[in-house]
Amino acid sequence: MDLKSNEPFWLLKNGLTTSYPSLKSNENCDVLVIGGGITGSLIAHQMISEGYKTVLIDKREICNGSTSATTSMLQYEIDVPLFELTEMIGEKGAVASYKACSDAIDRLEKLSKLIKSDAGFKRKKSLYFAAKKKDVNWLQKEYKARKNAGFDVKWLEAAQITEQFEFENTYGGILSKQGASIDAFKFAHELLEHNGKKGLKVFDKTEMKKVEYHKGFNLVKVDSGFQIRAKKILYCIGYESKNLLKENFVDLKSTYAIVSEIDDDKFKNISSTLVWNTDDPYIYMRTTDDGRLLIGGGDEDFYAAEKRDALLNQKEKEILKNLKKIKPDYHFYTDFVWAGTFGETKDGLPYIGEHKKFKNSYFVLGFGGNGITFSVTGMEMAALFMKNKKHLLSEYFKFGR
Ligand SMILES: Cc1cc2nc3c(=O)[nH]c(=O)nc-3n(C[C@H](O)[C@H](O)[C@H](O)COP(=O)(O)OP(=O)(O)OC[C@H]3O[C@@H](n4cnc5c(N)ncnc54)[C@H](O)[C@@H]3O)c2cc1C
Repeated sequence: MDLKSNEPFWLLKNGLTTSYPSLKSNENCDVLVIGGGITGSLIAHQMISEGYKTVLIDKREICNGSTSATTSMLQYEIDVPLFELTEMIGEKGAVASYKACSDAIDRLEKLSKLIKSDAGFKRKKSLYFAAKKKDVNWLQKEYKARKNAGFDVKWLEAAQITEQFEFENTYGGILSKQGASIDAFKFAHELLEHNGKKGLKVFDKTEMKKVEYHKGFNLVKVDSGFQIRAKKILYCIGYESKNLLKENFVDLKSTYAIVSEIDDDKFKNISSTLVWNTDDPYIYMRTTDDGRLLIGGGDEDFYAAEKRDALLNQKEKEILKNLKKIKPDYHFYTDFVWAGTFGETKDGLPYIGEHKKFKNSYFVLGFGGNGITFSVTGMEMAALFMKNKKHLLSEYFKFGR
């Protein structure tokens, strides 16, 4: 599956930062991480920190899957509103899922300090506004649910949004204190480099083809014919897990993003705030640390990469039309436009856990708009799995739920 179109911004901005070898001999390790995107890099970091002999492989160049296409907004807010998630899975699980995403942002900040990251982690507020009058009622209900759960939120009337952000035609919204943005592509590379110095072995252009389960270990055969003997396998293979797992657990979507220079005089507070709205499909935006505005949206069902990429021009126009609704006089000069594939689950939650058909293995599949924060939660969950323990969220993120 081709996970993204050509020209994703982060890949162009950073280029091929590091070259990794492909596997050219047999390996023996405690943990094999399959997948070298942001998820695999975070999980490998966790494993190295816990003292496991760890190998990571990726069938592409490192971070050339969804991680190169992401808009990298770090939000505690899940695609499914808190009040709706509460109706679906109960208050305990819903609040714990939101809190886990909130904690993930704090954890990423600490981690980026620890590795002296240059990937532009920046704390931001998050504005979630009503795009239509009919959305105001449920958005206010959502505001109350978040406030009751202890999140630092304010309700802003339309006039206050205009005053604080110079956006027109909104109908009010929730301003949250918690949020951040980062360059996940660069951060993942930095994590691998940091852990490479601590013993992590990374091989790209190395595809897992077959796994044999033996008592106490797995034998993983890769495309070059070499094999890796690993006590545990941690699958961090993103949306391509849909090809490996036969059940219907995620709906694939195409999503689009554009980026351009930003005219600071025409925007207020944009570089300190993540912005998204209730439209269907919704738009979302953030600034980058090199002074650009990145806008995403245009989501629709994914059928094939060619079909997704053929819509690039049309989707660019659609996103810009949506931007015009709130910034009628602003002209956006598109620098790059790209498309990516992402996955939506029935409850907006990820799949992180064991799968009955894969022994001695654990999946960390951060799906939805919060893919990255879910992957951070996956770090502590995977660490507990290694010790045969369960996490509070295991019940809510498990397969077959
Ligand atoms: C346009 C767009 C915008 C997004 N915006 C946001 C956002 O603002 N915030 C957010 O949190 N998330 C966002 N997401 C989602 C986020 O990008 C993903 O959750 C995240 O990048 C997934 O990372 P990953 O490492 O799990 O997957 P990937 O980056 O896809 O990495 C998985 C890797 O596994 C490898 N692999 C697969 N099969 C095998 C195999 N058999 N052998 C070896 N290797 C294999 C692949 O080559 C790939 O590199 C967005 C996604 C898109 C496309």
